[in-house]
Amino acid sequence: MLKIAYHPIFKHPLPDGHRFPMEKYDLLPKQLLHEGTCTKENFFEPELPEISNILTVHSQEYVNNLLSLTIEKRAARKIGFPLSKELIQRELIIADGTMKGCDYALEHGVAMNIAGGTHHAYSSHGEAFCLLNDQAIAARYIQKEKGIKKILIVDLDVHQGNGTAEIFQNDASVFTFSMHGKNNYPFRKEISDLDIELADQTGDKEYLKILKQILPELIEKEKPEFIFFLSGVDILSTDKLGKLGCSIDACKDRDRFVLQTCHDLKIPVQVSMGGGYSPNIKIILEAHANTFRMAQKIYF
Ligand SMILES: [Zn+2]
Repeated sequence: MLKIAYHPIFKHPLPDGHRFPMEKYDLLPKQLLHEGTCTKENFFEPELPEISNILTVHSQEYVNNLLSLTIEKRAARKIGFPLSKELIQRELIIADGTMKGCDYALEHGVAMNIAGGTHHAYSSHGEAFCLLNDQAIAARYIQKEKGIKKILIVDLDVHQGNGTAEIFQNDASVFTFSMHGKNNYPFRKEISDLDIELADQTGDKEYLKILKQILPELIEKEKPEFIFFLSGVDILSTDKLGKLGCSIDACKDRDRFVLQTCHDLKIPVQVSMGGGYSPNIKIILEAHANTFRMAQKIYF
């Protein structure tokens, strides 16, 4: 069965006028239930994790400052969210959802998180609405608790996974692959194990051609025992932050390809959602829902 992490705190309300689209975390599970892609049994509710899990990735000082809400002003501005106790709890619970998702992925082949993909979180600071790096924390968790040795992170959000690249920069056991818009944030990029930079307006054909060539070769070479997939839908031409030109069908084809590849090679995969900033919420929901529809179709 497809297991999906969801907690009501994911849709934590932000002050009026804040531009981050939180409503998708509320609407997406409703949509998946409404259309019958999922039933209530597909969802599980993550909890507050042991802080020791967080400390395998993030520095004690940074975590202490988050928990006591004593992040200094400049660092807080970089994060972009108005920091509150609930927001910190939200990020902790998202990380738990990704860790528990790994347990389910090891059992069922695939598992997903209605939130997460917070790849701009570095070991010692947060950036761009990312406080804690959920997939990095989960990667350390399965290495420590499940004896997984080699991990591949496939980050297809339009923004480079700069935090993830920094966290694993000297760690050969976790291969970081990021395919992103060359001219998108972050403007000073980190060095992943493999970075593919795409020009503005890169369209369906070229996007899919590159991905379909690279991913199988990469898996063949690195032989990961577990894959994390960051399925941001900010690659769409309609996205107001992303500079690429992909259609919703290409985004769906991307998800199908990644999941089918993991399925056929029998490599467990955990999927976190990542970004999506099309002005029309219906487009964001449709694109994210496609990732879940593909997982159901391919695996169950
Ligand atoms: Zn993004």
